[in-house]
Amino acid sequence: MSRTHVLIVAETRGGQLKKGAFETATAGRRLADAWGGKVVAVVTGQGVAGAADALGKHGVDQVLVVDGPAFARHQAEATAAAVLAAVAKVSPRLVLFSATLAGKETAPAVAAKLGAGYVADATAVALEGADLVATKPRLAGKAIAKVALKAEVAVVSVRPNVVTPAAAPRAATSEALAVTVPAVRIRCKEVVAPTAKEIELTEADVIVSGGRGLQGPEHWKLLLDAADALGAAHGASRAVVDAGWRPHKEQVGQTGKTVSPKLYVAVAISGAIQHLAGMSSSKVIVAINKDGDAPIFGVADFGIVGDAFAVLPLLAEEARAYLKK
Ligand SMILES: Cc1cc2nc3c(=O)[nH]c(=O)nc-3n(C[C@H](O)[C@H](O)[C@H](O)COP(=O)(O)OP(=O)(O)OC[C@H]3O[C@@H](n4cnc5c(N)ncnc54)[C@H](O)[C@@H]3O)c2cc1C
Repeated sequence: MSRTHVLIVAETRGGQLKKGAFETATAGRRLADAWGGKVVAVVTGQGVAGAADALGKHGVDQVLVVDGPAFARHQAEATAAAVLAAVAKVSPRLVLFSATLAGKETAPAVAAKLGAGYVADATAVALEGADLVATKPRLAGKAIAKVALKAEVAVVSVRPNVVTPAAAPRAATSEALAVTVPAVRIRCKEVVAPTAKEIELTEADVIVSGGRGLQGPEHWKLLLDAADALGAAHGASRAVVDAGWRPHKEQVGQTGKTVSPKLYVAVAISGAIQHLAGMSSSKVIVAINKDGDAPIFGVADFGIVGDAFAVLPLLAEEARAYLKK
């Protein structure tokens, strides 16, 4: 009989499920419904035994819990062992990861072990007729590929924020899954967690990013203030990061992070193809640039041709006035 189940890999941080877990649950639910199968989640971490309630609200039927100190922090080999143990138990048609750093590190190893069809960082995964098709931006977002996954098992990582978690409540069952943890070759020495005020770029709904046109790190307070007013995470172009104005963790683009927020505000960023590669799947793009011919306006939904030093304070003021209402 052909396979019908979807296995989602539900990431946790500090014992809490990450947003991507609910996104993959929602994507998985749609496919499992079409196939007449169930959605099973494998949850790894420490102190994660209570994950079933929250996942059940988003369409997960069964939760396999891998709990213990070896899983307290993401470690790709350990996570891959847990996912492979879950695959052996569930025999899914599809394994869905969130395309976070951890997901992008673990998913190809799992796909290789399974001999599965694999698509990384998909912006959609759906049925087209009988085919399971993943949508994937290529050539830094200039082309969109649709990849039909015809192998018996498929592994797909889904770009964070492209699926809106939907309610599909059910009472998910929960059971512990025994996993033999492989000898660890890479050990995490330190985790630099975002401060309470920092919002993780890949999970943010709103991002304000700055480019070289801001002229120097001393002007960043203007951008940070506008981001703060909008409740936004802040990003940067590579030119800014290369110049040492901002840390690499803020870089958006081909060699930085890929983001898909609801709103992306590009301030004094020209819109080089390598920058667009990281943000062109944002739902609404606003560009602020003093050059009306800057390429960023080619992907923007709204554009302000103007001096960022004049526009940013107004943006912050208006956002504060509006959001206070
Ligand atoms: C292999 C490779 C990988 C790369 N990866 C990345 C990546 O991941 N991310 C990335 O961003 N880039 C990446 N780049 C670099 C990319 O090609 C561009 O050089 C970079 O994005 C330019 O950054 P920028 O737009 O901030 O600077 P610039 O191209 O210098 O643009 C500055 C913009 O600011 C505007 N401006 C100036 N003053 C003002 C003002 N007062 N008010 C408003 N606007 C103003 C200008 O009109 C201009 O459009 C990569 C390049 C290569 C070759």
